Amino acid sequence: MVSERDLIAAIARRAAAAKAAPPATASPRGSQLLQGIGDDCAVLRPDPAALTLLTTDTLVEGVHFDLSWHPPHLLGRKAVAVNVSDIAAMGGLPRFVLLSLGLSGRESEEWRSRLLDGFTEAVAEHGATLIGGDTVRNPAGVMLSVTVLGEAAPPEVCLRSGGRVGDSIWVGGELGLAAAGLELCRRGLGDDPAWQPLARAHLDPRAQVELGRALASRRLAHAMMDLSDGLATDLAHLCAAGGLGAEVEADLLPMGELLPRAADLCRVDPLTWATSGGEDYQLLFTSSPENDPAVLTLAQAIAAARPRRIGRLISEPGVFLNQEGHRREIGFGGYDHFRTT
Ligand SMILES: [Mg+2]
Repeated sequence: MVSERDLIAAIARRAAAAKAAPPATASPRGSQLLQGIGDDCAVLRPDPAALTLLTTDTLVEGVHFDLSWHPPHLLGRKAVAVNVSDIAAMGGLPRFVLLSLGLSGRESEEWRSRLLDGFTEAVAEHGATLIGGDTVRNPAGVMLSVTVLGEAAPPEVCLRSGGRVGDSIWVGGELGLAAAGLELCRRGLGDDPAWQPLARAHLDPRAQVELGRALASRRLAHAMMDLSDGLATDLAHLCAAGGLGAEVEADLLPMGELLPRAADLCRVDPLTWATSGGEDYQLLFTSSPENDPAVLTLAQAIAAARPRRIGRLISEPGVFLNQEGHRREIGFGGYDHFRTT
C-alpha cells in the first residue's frame, strides 16, 4: 500500500509539472497564487476586479462510476470536467483546483498513476492550477472530491435566475449520450468501436467553458446552468430560479444519429435518455429570440459546441414537453440521488 507521504508527493510533482496555459483573461489580471501545494493552506492574492466562483462536486465509486469499465485516466479527467462544467455554467474561467482523494488502498501503483495523470492533464487543459487538497483511506472505495475556484468579470456572471418570458431555450449540444453510454458500458459494450461517441460521453465528458465564456462576454445568455441531472430536472431548476416555466418541443431535442440506434438495442425510449438521463454536461441557457442567429453564428466558431434551440420560456410554472400534439409536464423527472436507485 502506498504511504500518504508518497501519494502527496506524486500529486505535488504532477501539480508542479502541469504547465497551465495562461487563461484567456476573465478579468484584467486574475488572482495570483502565492503558495501552492506544500503548506497548510494555499495562498491566493485575489484580483479586486474579478468575482470568485466556487464549486465542489464529488465522484463516489459505485454511485458515479464503476471501476470495472471506467479507465483511471478518464476517471481523473471526468472529476475535473464535472466541476469545471459548473464554472462554465456561470460564464467563468476555472483557475484553481483542490482535490480530496479517497483510495481504498487496493489500487495498484499504475492505476493511481493513470488517475493522477488524467486529473492533472485535465486541470492543465483548462489553464487551471492544482493548489492543494487532501488524501484519505476510504475502505468503501475510490472517491474524488474536487473544488474549483473560477473567476469572471462582474457583469459577465450568468445566473440561473435571469430568464425572461419568451426567451429561446438552448442546449449546448446533443442530449442523452452519456446516459446511453452508461447503459452500453453496463452491457459490456463500452469498448465497442461502434458505440465510442456514446461511451466517451459517459467516460470522458467535456465542459463547455469556451461556449460559456463566449455567451457571457457577449451578454447573449440571460440564464445559464449546466446539465448534470437531466434536462427535465435541470430546466425545472432554471425555471424555478426565475419564477417561470418552459415549453420544450420533443422534435427539437438534439440526439444525434447513434442514440436512437442504441435506444433500439437497449429497448429504451431515446426521449427518456434525452430528457432524464443525467451527466450531459452541456450548457443549458436562455436568450432573447432576436439573438437566435447570433447564438448560432457564435457557436460555429467553437468546435465542441452544437447549440440547438429546444423551446421557450413561458410564464406558466412547470416544464412542458410537446410531442406529437400532446403536452405533458416533465419537471424534475431526471436523476435524483436520494430517489433514484
Ligand atoms: Mg451545475
